[in-house]
Amino acid sequence: MEPYTKPFWESLEDGTFMIHTCENCSEHFFPPTPICPHCHSTDVDWTAATGHGTLFSFTRTHATAAGFPDELVVGVVELEEGPQLLAPIDEPYAALEIGDPVALEAVTYEPDYDRGWPSEYPFFAASRLEE
Ligand SMILES: [Zn+2]
Repeated sequence: MEPYTKPFWESLEDGTFMIHTCENCSEHFFPPTPICPHCHSTDVDWTAATGHGTLFSFTRTHATAAGFPDELVVGVVELEEGPQLLAPIDEPYAALEIGDPVALEAVTYEPDYDRGWPSEYPFFAASRLEE
Protein backbone atom coordinates (compact mmCIF):
# COMPACT_ATOMS: atom_id res chain seq x y z
CA MET A 1 0.00 0.00 0.00
CA GLU A 2 1.05 3.54 -0.62
CA PRO A 3 1.84 4.79 2.92
CA TYR A 4 0.94 8.36 2.05
CA THR A 5 -2.69 7.46 1.28
CA LYS A 6 -3.12 5.09 4.24
CA PRO A 7 -5.12 7.71 6.25
CA PHE A 8 -7.56 7.96 3.33
CA TRP A 9 -8.19 4.19 3.25
CA GLU A 10 -8.46 3.91 7.03
CA SER A 11 -10.93 6.81 7.23
CA LEU A 12 -12.98 5.42 4.36
CA GLU A 13 -13.26 2.17 6.27
CA ASP A 14 -14.83 4.21 9.09
CA GLY A 15 -17.19 5.95 6.65
CA THR A 16 -15.34 9.25 6.32
CA PHE A 17 -14.19 10.54 2.93
CA MET A 18 -10.92 12.41 3.39
CA ILE A 19 -9.47 14.96 0.99
CA HIS A 20 -6.56 17.36 1.27
CA THR A 21 -6.64 21.04 2.12
CA CYS A 22 -3.71 23.31 1.37
CA GLU A 23 -2.75 25.41 4.39
CA ASN A 24 -1.16 28.00 2.08
CA CYS A 25 -3.91 28.68 -0.48
CA SER A 26 -6.88 27.00 1.27
CA GLU A 27 -7.81 24.97 -1.85
CA HIS A 28 -9.15 21.46 -1.40
CA PHE A 29 -7.89 18.73 -3.69
CA PHE A 30 -8.14 15.02 -4.43
CA PRO A 31 -6.42 12.63 -4.88
CA PRO A 32 -4.20 13.35 -1.90
CA THR A 33 -0.65 14.31 -2.79
CA PRO A 34 2.07 15.89 -0.65
CA ILE A 35 2.25 18.93 -2.96
CA CYS A 36 -0.69 21.27 -3.57
CA PRO A 37 -1.60 21.19 -7.29
CA HIS A 38 -2.78 24.82 -7.07
CA CYS A 39 0.21 26.60 -5.48
CA HIS A 40 2.84 23.82 -5.08
CA SER A 41 3.04 24.28 -1.31
CA THR A 42 3.94 21.24 0.75
CA ASP A 43 1.88 22.57 3.68
CA VAL A 44 -1.11 20.27 3.12
CA ASP A 45 -3.27 18.38 5.56
CA TRP A 46 -6.20 15.97 5.67
CA THR A 47 -9.77 17.27 5.82
CA ALA A 48 -12.96 15.28 6.28
CA ALA A 49 -15.19 15.97 3.28
CA THR A 50 -18.96 15.60 3.41
CA GLY A 51 -18.80 13.01 0.63
CA HIS A 52 -21.68 14.88 -0.98
CA GLY A 53 -21.54 16.47 -4.38
CA THR A 54 -23.13 16.60 -7.80
CA LEU A 55 -22.79 14.42 -10.85
CA PHE A 56 -20.61 16.40 -13.27
CA SER A 57 -20.57 13.76 -16.01
CA PHE A 58 -21.21 10.04 -16.42
CA THR A 59 -20.97 7.18 -18.88
CA ARG A 60 -21.33 3.42 -19.02
CA THR A 61 -19.53 0.50 -20.56
CA HIS A 62 -21.00 -2.83 -21.58
CA ALA A 63 -17.69 -4.58 -22.27
CA THR A 64 -16.53 -5.04 -18.71
CA ALA A 65 -13.78 -7.22 -17.30
CA ALA A 66 -14.43 -10.27 -15.17
CA GLY A 67 -15.51 -9.28 -11.68
CA PHE A 68 -17.39 -6.18 -12.82
CA PRO A 69 -21.12 -5.87 -13.53
CA ASP A 70 -22.26 -6.25 -17.17
CA GLU A 71 -23.14 -2.57 -17.27
CA LEU A 72 -20.57 -0.50 -15.43
CA VAL A 73 -21.62 3.10 -14.76
CA VAL A 74 -18.88 5.55 -13.84
CA GLY A 75 -18.97 9.30 -13.43
CA VAL A 76 -17.16 12.41 -12.38
CA VAL A 77 -18.42 13.66 -9.02
CA GLU A 78 -17.84 17.26 -8.05
CA LEU A 79 -17.60 17.36 -4.27
CA GLU A 80 -19.17 20.22 -2.30
CA GLU A 81 -15.61 21.16 -1.30
CA GLY A 82 -14.62 21.55 -4.97
CA PRO A 83 -12.49 18.61 -6.10
CA GLN A 84 -13.73 16.39 -8.91
CA LEU A 85 -13.10 12.67 -8.86
CA LEU A 86 -13.97 9.61 -10.88
CA ALA A 87 -16.18 7.08 -9.12
CA PRO A 88 -18.34 4.09 -9.87
CA ILE A 89 -21.98 5.18 -9.82
CA ASP A 90 -24.23 2.74 -8.03
CA GLU A 91 -27.34 3.65 -10.03
CA PRO A 92 -28.81 2.54 -13.38
CA TYR A 93 -27.49 4.64 -16.26
CA ALA A 94 -31.02 5.53 -17.44
CA ALA A 95 -31.91 6.94 -14.00
CA LEU A 96 -29.10 9.51 -13.97
CA GLU A 97 -28.92 13.14 -15.07
CA ILE A 98 -26.01 15.55 -14.99
CA GLY A 99 -26.30 17.66 -11.86
CA ASP A 100 -27.91 14.94 -9.76
CA PRO A 101 -26.97 15.20 -6.08
CA VAL A 102 -24.84 12.22 -5.10
CA ALA A 103 -23.10 10.88 -2.03
CA LEU A 104 -19.92 8.84 -1.91
CA GLU A 105 -20.07 5.81 0.32
CA ALA A 106 -17.67 3.04 1.20
CA VAL A 107 -18.36 -0.20 -0.62
CA THR A 108 -16.73 -3.59 -0.51
CA TYR A 109 -16.28 -5.94 -3.43
CA GLU A 110 -15.42 -9.57 -3.71
CA PRO A 111 -11.62 -9.67 -3.56
CA ASP A 112 -11.38 -12.12 -6.49
CA TYR A 113 -9.72 -9.56 -8.74
CA ASP A 114 -7.08 -6.96 -8.17
CA ARG A 115 -8.90 -3.68 -8.65
CA GLY A 116 -5.81 -1.65 -7.93
CA TRP A 117 -6.37 -0.75 -4.29
CA PRO A 118 -5.60 -2.52 -1.02
CA SER A 119 -7.96 -5.49 -0.73
CA GLU A 120 -8.21 -5.12 3.04
CA TYR A 121 -9.88 -1.71 2.65
CA PRO A 122 -13.20 -0.77 1.05
CA PHE A 123 -13.48 1.31 -2.08
CA PHE A 124 -16.08 4.01 -2.71
CA ALA A 125 -19.01 4.47 -5.04
CA ALA A 126 -21.54 7.24 -5.52
CA SER A 127 -25.28 6.89 -5.11
CA ARG A 128 -27.93 9.43 -5.91
CA LEU A 129 -29.18 11.50 -2.97
CA GLU A 130 -32.91 11.97 -2.90
CA GLU A 131 -33.77 15.66 -2.73
ZN1 LIG B 1 -2.09 25.50 -2.29
